Amino acid sequence: MGELRRDPIVGRWVIVETETPLIPEMFEKEEHRWRGNECPFCYGNEDKTPPEIEAMRDPKTKPNTPGWQVRVVPNKFPALQIEGNIDRRGLGIYDMSSGIGAHEVIIQSPYHHKEIPDLLDEEVQNIIKMCCRRAGDLKNDKRFKYILLFKNYGPSAGASLEHPHIQLIALPMIPKNPAEEILGALEYFEFRERCLFCDMLRQEMQEKTRIVADNMYFIAFCPFVSRFAFEIWILPKVHHSFYCDMSPAEVAGLAKILKDVLLRLRLMLADPAYNFIIHTSPINQDGELSHYHWHIEIIPKLTRVAGFEWGTGFYIVSTPPELAAKYLREAEVKEGGNQDVGKSRD
Ligand SMILES: [Zn+2]
Ligand SMILES: [Zn+2]
Ligand SMILES: [Zn+2]
Repeated sequence: MGELRRDPIVGRWVIVETETPLIPEMFEKEEHRWRGNECPFCYGNEDKTPPEIEAMRDPKTKPNTPGWQVRVVPNKFPALQIEGNIDRRGLGIYDMSSGIGAHEVIIQSPYHHKEIPDLLDEEVQNIIKMCCRRAGDLKNDKRFKYILLFKNYGPSAGASLEHPHIQLIALPMIPKNPAEEILGALEYFEFRERCLFCDMLRQEMQEKTRIVADNMYFIAFCPFVSRFAFEIWILPKVHHSFYCDMSPAEVAGLAKILKDVLLRLRLMLADPAYNFIIHTSPINQDGELSHYHWHIEIIPKLTRVAGFEWGTGFYIVSTPPELAAKYLREAEVKEGGNQDVGKSRD
């Protein structure tokens, strides 16, 4: 028997497996198998990517040479093209538009084998700062309405290159998932005159059962209406609708909690593949929204979406978020650096 829970943001229902939940040992482990070709994102291979858009680099070095800490390049196989006009047209009942957008790759660091949990706090801060710099730049392009930042980790999460990177896509429309969240949050705000996410934050801080990690500026928790086992959200404690309005102290707080949470996932679930996405307010619209609150959603790839989910839009979550949070809190995280996969699993 499960428990039905309704998401207060978009109204989605999930079934939480409360009686026979899956615990970390029970998920199928997936080896990350890579093709092992020469890596275009490594130091010294700068000429193997399209020319860089921007980089944090030693001022004595030239673009497209070594000497960088974070490097941004256009995606070699972009989903959307940067040049051109948005030509919207109809084909009978169908709406179409030319595929205009920006598709960039943020190479997190020169280290091929260091993911976010293995980097220094400062290095993670640099990645966050670069994400914001790019978003700040693309915001000036009036053709775009939304900037999506996301990460695919592991081949089964859709990553095609092993070298740690984040992707950025600027879109000429607001995509459906954030649009639905923004609308749901607006309805809540009009009714209660409060931000739904700020309310969620207060309740999670009070109940504490779903919290994974917490610092002065951010909270990480397994949402009450998780869609996936071990889903984690990171929410800023100060209300902002756009993720780039962070102070340096907030950037440091985000770097710390992101490192911590990704390390806990790695330790507790033997380095699972995952996606993370940043949900934020649109650009070139009304500016700061009091009803929407930006956040990061981290979704480990532990189970597959099956017919029931496709057929209903319901999700079946095999581990209650309260139990997932307990496991993640109890992962043995040691300060400072490289920890082997699955160490705390015995
Ligand atoms: Zn590499
Ligand atoms: Zn808020
Ligand atoms: Zn969201």
